Amino acid sequence: MTFGASPSPDSKDVEFDSNSSLWQLCIQQLANELPEQQFNTWIKPLKADVALNGSKIIIWVANRFKLDWIRAQYFQKLSTMLEQLNGQPIKLELSLSVKEIQHHHFTAPAKTEFEIPLESRGIPDDTPVNGHKSRLNTALTFENLVEGTANRMARAAAMHVATIPGQLYNPLFIYGGVGLGKTHLIHAVGNKLLADQPDAKVLYIHAEQFVSDVVKAYQRKTFAEFKHHYHSLDLLLIDDVQFFANKDRTQEEFFNAFEALLAKKSHIVMTSDTYPKGLNDIHERLVSRFDSGLTVAIEPPELEMRVAILISKARNEGTEMPEEVAFFVAKNVRSNVRELEGALRKILAYSRFNQKEINIQLARDALRDLLSIQNRQISVENIQKTVADYYKIKVADMYSKKRPASIAKPRQIAMYLAKELTQKSLPEIGELFGGRDHTTVLHAVRKIGSERQQLNDLNQQLHVLEQTLKG
Ligand code: ADP
Ligand code: MG
Repeated sequence: MTFGASPSPDSKDVEFDSNSSLWQLCIQQLANELPEQQFNTWIKPLKADVALNGSKIIIWVANRFKLDWIRAQYFQKLSTMLEQLNGQPIKLELSLSVKEIQHHHFTAPAKTEFEIPLESRGIPDDTPVNGHKSRLNTALTFENLVEGTANRMARAAAMHVATIPGQLYNPLFIYGGVGLGKTHLIHAVGNKLLADQPDAKVLYIHAEQFVSDVVKAYQRKTFAEFKHHYHSLDLLLIDDVQFFANKDRTQEEFFNAFEALLAKKSHIVMTSDTYPKGLNDIHERLVSRFDSGLTVAIEPPELEMRVAILISKARNEGTEMPEEVAFFVAKNVRSNVRELEGALRKILAYSRFNQKEINIQLARDALRDLLSIQNRQISVENIQKTVADYYKIKVADMYSKKRPASIAKPRQIAMYLAKELTQKSLPEIGELFGGRDHTTVLHAVRKIGSERQQLNDLNQQLHVLEQTLKG
């Protein structure tokens, strides 16, 4: 197995087929054998080149993290299956896609153990768990973070970092919309590391707090201490880095801390509401650092996951929520986990207060206000607002005549979604987008529809928008 970008030297004179029936067969068989989510997450995205003489197959994997995972979980299975299908021995190589290699720096061969620098021990502080204040919320752990398709990758990567920090996926950059569990996950990393290694120097900090720490250090001329504090950490968890926008001094200090920490193989985990290149007003050199480890998304939870979360949270409160009630709530509360928790709290309170059992009728009563809002159909207005928020443009630009691509594209996406998700006709939609002609709408619908077939990024964005709008 190689980690190289190109097939190993011995394969130079062999010709490869990227559309091989051997690989198609293997994929089909795995699709039948593996649980659907597993298949979709790990196997489906793989591409393979098969030597025409059947001696070798190179499977291309999108990133280092997936590569490790596939090697650990599926290598044996793939190997055996391919050999059987091939009818003769075949050499299996896992390799990173070329694109990934160009964009990501790899850390040097890893240390076998996570070493905690001596100077991190026994530094006096106000709540010395291990002589150091971590600012972790101990209630946010992996154990109570429900896993589902929407967070599987992010959770697995975070778990890996918590288990063997300082090695792979550094920095780990986790992004996603509000209330999807980013803060929970980043605390879970810290809590797990501290549980395993009580001496580790861990710090959780919200980006806004970091900004104010920088300002304080600046005013009090205490940069030396500030630096010492940050640069001595083993694990820095920094939440909502989009708040660094336009804070030049902070970005500079963070850049310094970042470099110092990576140099001594301390781990950095960040969260943000968008992927690194989508961040506004953050210096290019910082953005490229953010993207230099592993970047993973958390998506809005799908129905099954919302059900699982409700049942699990109710259980944590000592209440069994019947599955049908969980389904009812999950179908109606779709945007994010924070809102699910809000709905659950209302139901529990209502049930206790009225001393009634939890059933669908009770849930309906408890959530009356919320449901009347949710039950309104998806409106074009709502689509415009959601899309504008997502792409960080003004809602007014949905009706404006402006044409720069940064505005025109989201506008076309909103038109596409309006056609897809509402009953409105093309002329009606045109009217709602600042009195545009129906042919303009038709053009947008066709264009986005065909582009999403070809562009993974766009398809992913549309998927998130659709989930957000309809759940
Ligand atoms: P974000 O930081 O992405 O805005 P949070 O981490 O604050 O979101 O999550 C919002 C709430 O939802 C928190 O109370 C968190 O514990 C809970 N939550 C989010 N995702 C999950 C999950 N998968 N399982 C259990 N609870 C979750
Ligand atoms: Mg958060």
